[in-house]
Amino acid sequence: MPVRRVPVSQPLLGPEETHHVNEALAKGAISGFFGDYLPMFEQEFAAYCECKHGVSVSSGTTALHLALATLSIGPGDEVLVASLTNMATFFAVLYQGAHPVPIDSEADTQNLDPKLLRARITPKTKAILVVHLFGHPVDMDPVMEIAREHNLYVIEDCAEAHGALYKGRKVGGIGDIGCFSFYANKVITTGEGGMLTLNNAEWAARARNLKGLAFGDKNKFMHKDIGYNYRMTNLQAAIGHAQFGKIEQIITAKREIADKYARRLGGRDDLQLPVEKPYARNVHWMYMVLLAGRNAGRRAEVMRALLQKGVESRENFLPYNMQEIFINRGWTRVDECPVANDLGLRGFYLPSGPAISDEEIDYVCQSLIEALDQ
Ligand SMILES: *Cc1c(COP(=O)(O)O)cnc(C)c1O
Repeated sequence: MPVRRVPVSQPLLGPEETHHVNEALAKGAISGFFGDYLPMFEQEFAAYCECKHGVSVSSGTTALHLALATLSIGPGDEVLVASLTNMATFFAVLYQGAHPVPIDSEADTQNLDPKLLRARITPKTKAILVVHLFGHPVDMDPVMEIAREHNLYVIEDCAEAHGALYKGRKVGGIGDIGCFSFYANKVITTGEGGMLTLNNAEWAARARNLKGLAFGDKNKFMHKDIGYNYRMTNLQAAIGHAQFGKIEQIITAKREIADKYARRLGGRDDLQLPVEKPYARNVHWMYMVLLAGRNAGRRAEVMRALLQKGVESRENFLPYNMQEIFINRGWTRVDECPVANDLGLRGFYLPSGPAISDEEIDYVCQSLIEALDQ
């Protein structure tokens, strides 16, 4: 039995969160329609993303779905999507009855490879859905150029990349709509929650209406559309407001954790570490490593050895084209995105919570090196 446990992540919660939640409770402002924390959190977070509008929602998944619904992407439309991602990204496209087209990954950043986009564009293509994976921004200039050429929308899945920079610009405001998650393990959290960030006032109003059952203007119960209840509550926004106050502190911590791991684990030919391209500020949401060389096929063994030492880790995502639920429907083939498959099978992430201590990082590295050298 392990004598200690190093969790993969733990949110940084303190008296600020308690204070703001209690204040919301004391006012009875607990729903998703009323309360000061909702507009406060939306405005501060949107401004942080260099966007005019923030529309809070109940999760990252509902943020993605609401973005696609707002842009009226639906049956008959195709959306180019990074194959290696949390499957929520693909589910959102499927909720709209649109057809997702998986795009393979870059071997180093693990993000979608913009060079592969052009070949997958058809007259039905309506949008590109990029995912800034593990905190590293996608190479957005070529994506935006292709989108302009073909008149496509660009949606950014920023669920893992709050505060990441592409050529000095915040992710979430580079494409048409940014979609964030505030799930418990994300850079900042509201427990469950999400947000759309955007500059187009008309789309912001439409998203806001749709997320609250699309009530009518003059007559509330004459609905404007088939709406959703995707509202974030004021209680969640109260947590979000407190978390927002620590966002740079958390990102600094994550970047320092990554530096420490890199110093201890660098220089091995059986371990590939995360990169930071010259165009990027990587916020290192989770420290994702890839087994290589003689250890390339030993992930299960290595993760088991870590767990025996009390060190938690998590496998990389499995890409869209490896999911049986989609292969069985005839929508994709395993070999459609070979780089993503390879990354998905070799990758796993190490404990990366903002409160991890130097001593814990040393312990994780020592346990990992022992497992690799076995
Ligand atoms: C977490 C995550 C989501 C889903 O967010 P939820 O808040 O869990 O619904 C979507 N995309 C990516 C890339 C994620 O990491």
